[in-house]
Amino acid sequence: MNLSIGTLYSVKCKYNAPYKTKDNLVTYTGKVVPSAKYDPPSTFRLTTEIADFPFRVIDFKSVVSFNGDTFNYELPKEEVRTVLGSRGDVYTVVTTNGRTTCTCPGFQFKKRCKHTES
Ligand SMILES: [Zn+2]
Repeated sequence: MNLSIGTLYSVKCKYNAPYKTKDNLVTYTGKVVPSAKYDPPSTFRLTTEIADFPFRVIDFKSVVSFNGDTFNYELPKEEVRTVLGSRGDVYTVVTTNGRTTCTCPGFQFKKRCKHTES
């Protein structure tokens, strides 16, 4: 989900506060502002209109809907497999969102290897 900076959203979230709302859902309305480097990558920031608390950090995993459209957080697709190198070493090949890496020395050096091409 790519949110546009400055766009107003009405975001319904699962509520994880010590006290509960009736349906454990809460709706926040605000404009998207840029995240800070230290924010977790699965979060975004929404303005609050509250002077002492100008924005809140919301985790995509808690979001139920954006502007009434149902939202399902998708974990990055990751495929992990183990390969046996020609000298008997075991390497791990990981494909995440179409990008493949390998733990063998050849891949570390050349950023490609025979294990990632099969
Ligand atoms: Zn390799």
